[in-house]
Formats: sequence, structure tokens, C-alpha cells
Amino acid sequence: MVLTITPSIFKPYPELAAAMTLRRGEEPFGFNFSFYVGDDEERVRHNRQKYTEKLGFSSARLAVQKQVHGDRVVYVDEGYQPTESDALITDQEGWLLGVSTADCVPILLAVPEKSIVGAIHSGWRGSAQNVASKTVRAVEEQFRIAPGELIAWIGPSAGQCCYEVGEDIFRAFDNRRFKPIGDEKFLFDNKGVVLDQLLEAGLRPEKIEIDPRCTICDTRFHSWRRDRKASGRMIAVIGRKNSTDGL
Ligand SMILES: [Zn+2]
Repeated sequence: MVLTITPSIFKPYPELAAAMTLRRGEEPFGFNFSFYVGDDEERVRHNRQKYTEKLGFSSARLAVQKQVHGDRVVYVDEGYQPTESDALITDQEGWLLGVSTADCVPILLAVPEKSIVGAIHSGWRGSAQNVASKTVRAVEEQFRIAPGELIAWIGPSAGQCCYEVGEDIFRAFDNRRFKPIGDEKFLFDNKGVVLDQLLEAGLRPEKIEIDPRCTICDTRFHSWRRDRKASGRMIAVIGRKNSTDGL
């Protein structure tokens, strides 16, 4: 059973590992990567370890943060300890950065030739705080990289087909990317918001890939909206493999 997807935009760069997991079967916690959803901890640890090793990384080098729907960006290197944040960046080989999501948008960033990678978690709260462009700015400042050099992948997440929201979320944005459906309800395109933010931050359209799949109506994914408390989390990861490996 194939339980992982590979973003096409990163395929030309074999030195990078970039992937996102799927749910296993119809199990609520099938191939779950979060410790915080009621799944057995040992099973989650096992999933994380096996998946990280399968991608060619040491399981001690998987960086997963405590996601809090904020806009804090953390630089990962030796001695990284998970803290509360929603974006991770590094220029260190051998680190795999991960974000866990069900319906929130996972965003993976890279400048492959410079070993720079980033992973962002952007639910509607993160998008309202523009965590995507704050991460691009952090990459720019920390590594002296022009945003136009970045490659980005916007992963499977709640699609506008299904993501119904109320006035509160509508008011948190400047009205783009909402389809009114009456009764003060809207269909929200969070992936579209993230795309707008990345373009405004200076990324080039041809260097951004959007995965069209919706986690709510596509049952191969975990979805909090669809399954509520019986939903696990996928993980989206990116990292530059150690260049000395295999020599
Ligand atoms: Zn849908």
C-alpha cells in the first residue's frame, strides 16, 4: 500500500527528500504522526522512526514542533528541541523538518543547491497571521536568499469544495478567496490565500506547486473536519540528505 506522496516540483532534486504521508485504510489513526490526538504513543513513535529512516534520515534528526496556530519561525540545527512554533527552517544537511496536519495547509520550501529547506503549518489562524510570508522573510534574512530562488509546495488540505466557515473567519481576511453560500456562511480557499501570500512575498509562480486534493472529501487523508476526534494527522517533511552518504 502506498502511504506517501511526493511533490512533483521537488522531483528534479534527488538530494532532497520531500514527501507527505497518507492515512492507512479507513482506520481513524491509520499511519498517524501526532502524539496529541489520542493515538497510542508507541505506535506514533514507531511511525515517525520508520518513515524518517525510510527517507534516508536518522530518526534523531526529525524536527517536529509543537504547533500552536501562530507565526513563529524557528531555525533548526544541532541541539534542536521542539518548542511552540509553526514554521521550521534550516540550512543544515541531514535534518528532516516536519509539519503535522489534517486539514491545515502544509507548505514545504527549498533552495536545493544551498541546502535550505522549510516546513510551515498554516491553518486559517496561521494564514490570518501570514506565517507563510513571515517564513519567507526569515529565510531571506537568515540565509541571504532572494524569495525568487525559493521553490514551494502547497500540500493537500481543506479545499474550497468543502471548507465551510462562518463570519469570524471571513472577517479575519480581506475578503478574497471566499465564496458566499448564504446564511453568513462561506467556502474558504485557504490554499489560495497561502498562494497569494507566497507570491506577495516574492516567490515566482512557476516555482510554486499546489496539490489540488482536499483532505475533507478525499478519504485517503486524515481530516479533523470530517472525522473530528477520531482523526489522526499526516506529516509533510522536507530535508537535504547528508551529501557524504553513499560515498
Ligand atoms: Zn472537498
